[in-house]
Amino acid sequence: MNGIQIGQRFSRLTVTALISDKKNPKAQCICDCGSIVTPQRGALRNGRAKSCGCLRREILREHSESSRLPIEQLKSRRAERDRKWALLNPVRARQINNAATRRHYAKYPEKARENCRARRARLIGAYGVISSGIETTLHERQKGKCACCKSRLKVGNVHLDHVKPLVKGGLHEDLNLQLLCATCNLKKGARDSVDFMQSRGFLL
Ligand SMILES: [Zn+2]
Ligand SMILES: [Zn+2]
Repeated sequence: MNGIQIGQRFSRLTVTALISDKKNPKAQCICDCGSIVTPQRGALRNGRAKSCGCLRREILREHSESSRLPIEQLKSRRAERDRKWALLNPVRARQINNAATRRHYAKYPEKARENCRARRARLIGAYGVISSGIETTLHERQKGKCACCKSRLKVGNVHLDHVKPLVKGGLHEDLNLQLLCATCNLKKGARDSVDFMQSRGFLL
């Protein structure tokens, strides 16, 4: 009825047995690679079944191998072109770069402050790393209050302060940080927290 014979070849597949099923007649085949599969006979006839799947895998692998290189090359060529352009147009390049940075930091203000602080700390040669999100952590730990005067910390009026100032060898790390209100922070300046708190009448 369907004309498929045992021993017949369809691309990589050789029919080894016919599986009778009225609704869905299949054929057992052995692929050139050695796998045994049972495609629908209709798929063999119309050419959809050509292998156990090894053919498709080979094609995909070849495709990805041949396309990987050009993309890398394109990227590096584009980067190269951008670099040259930036050398010829330094002002504009800086503007574009700054604008991108600004857009990024507008989206992540706490991250911006963190990077700014890390840079300042690096510049004066302080050691240490602070956790990302330290401001939020401290805000919770201090229950939203200034570590010194206990006034409520308002948005835009919060200063992350090094308890022992960096210039006095304090570490740029979580344990050496506290949140102060702007007033307290400005009064404190670079003075040691202990001196400062004592000068404000706190006995530590
Ligand atoms: Zn195969
Ligand atoms: Zn305060």
